[in-house]
Amino acid sequence: MSARVAIVGRPNVGKSTLFNRLAGRRLAIVDDLPGVTRDRRETDGKLGPLRFTVIDTAGLEDLRDESLESRMRVQTEQAVDDADAVLMVIDGRVGVTPMDRHFADWLRRQTRPVVLVVNKCEGRAGASAAGEAYALGLGDPVAVSAEHGEGMLELYEALAPLL
Ligand code: GDP
Ligand code: MG
Repeated sequence: MSARVAIVGRPNVGKSTLFNRLAGRRLAIVDDLPGVTRDRRETDGKLGPLRFTVIDTAGLEDLRDESLESRMRVQTEQAVDDADAVLMVIDGRVGVTPMDRHFADWLRRQTRPVVLVVNKCEGRAGASAAGEAYALGLGDPVAVSAEHGEGMLELYEALAPLL
């Protein structure tokens, strides 16, 4: 059975773009508007020589009437529970937000190993966010650009030991 890698994070950080990048084909719906990825989606993923099942999650878009805590649970608890490793994505152009901190606090209480992914770091963007991201307590952040395919070797190096 293939190892499972769940992609989690708040809306609009680029989870579905990363999912598509790892899937090597366009499956999830990517859009500028939060709330586009309605369902959990999974497919065969690859990263260098690694093969795994990659799971996209909806983030926190749905169930707006519930508290942040319960929304996080509803949207991602199952995906994280089922995963061998978790990619938590933040937006390197926006920097670390309070919702990212809540998310990281919750993930640190889970037992699954986490790679902290700072997305949208093409070119020189996101350098300061990667620095800030250390404070989330999820280990060394990996700067990537899911859209442009940058940082995939570093992501491989962070993920491979966890699978
Ligand atoms: P999700 O809500 O976390 O699934 O985020 P999406 O994958 O739907 O992406 C949200 C927005 O961020 C879209 O407009 C993407 O094109 C954009 N985006 C995703 N990855 C990158 C990236 O590496 N660089 C830049 N500049 N934009 C990105
Ligand atoms: Mg999405």
